[in-house]
Amino acid sequence: MPISRPLTLALSKGRILEETLPLLERCGVVPEEDPESSRRLIIGTNRQDLRLLIVRATDVPPYVEHGGADLGVAGRDVLMEYGSEGLYDPLDLGIARCRLMVAGRPGTDFTRGRPRVATKFINITRRYFAARGIQAELIKLYGSMELAPLVGMADFIVDLVDTGGTLRANGLAPLETIEEISSRLVVNKASMKISHRRVRALVDDLAEAVKAQESL
Ligand code: AMP
Repeated sequence: MPISRPLTLALSKGRILEETLPLLERCGVVPEEDPESSRRLIIGTNRQDLRLLIVRATDVPPYVEHGGADLGVAGRDVLMEYGSEGLYDPLDLGIARCRLMVAGRPGTDFTRGRPRVATKFINITRRYFAARGIQAELIKLYGSMELAPLVGMADFIVDLVDTGGTLRANGLAPLETIEEISSRLVVNKASMKISHRRVRALVDDLAEAVKAQESL
């Protein structure tokens, strides 16, 4: 019998890691060291057949699609922006909840004229404005989108909003929700076939953990 290689689960540091670890713990999976503070990018767990891969949030879909990881946890925002056709997407983990929103100065109207919109979610934003028949000028940024309207570079931003505190602190207000966001478990298509039993067992265990967490 060949020894099967461990399943690899790709996670990103921050909210996703913080909120995924308790779900994994409910499934009996505990990392060998604290992934948040460790500099290691591959972290073993108490289960010999499962290890964690620590990658940037936006890199989770390509790692899983191209077989660098068997499974991953990614925000719906990241999946929508990347395009998730190459992945299975079997489970909403219900974690890292927030909204993807259009924001701008309070009371402004982003449906008029040719708004300048700064965002890192360029594909989602392009589709959203096109579907509404609005000819927007898009500016791709990699972070701190709230700054763009403050310096007059853009009229609106598209960004994730949780409490709204970041927007308020920068004189901006949420104007419209594009999508409700939570993180999802994604699975490599080949792994789902080749390691079906082990992958299915983990998906089922995580689904139970999500249910248990939500009933608290
Ligand atoms: P808040 O001030 O609570 O509305 O949080 C907004 C800031 O946190 C923005 O910079 C967002 O990009 C970031 N943020 C909020 N929720 C999430 C999430 N679920 N995943 C990643 N970033 C988030």
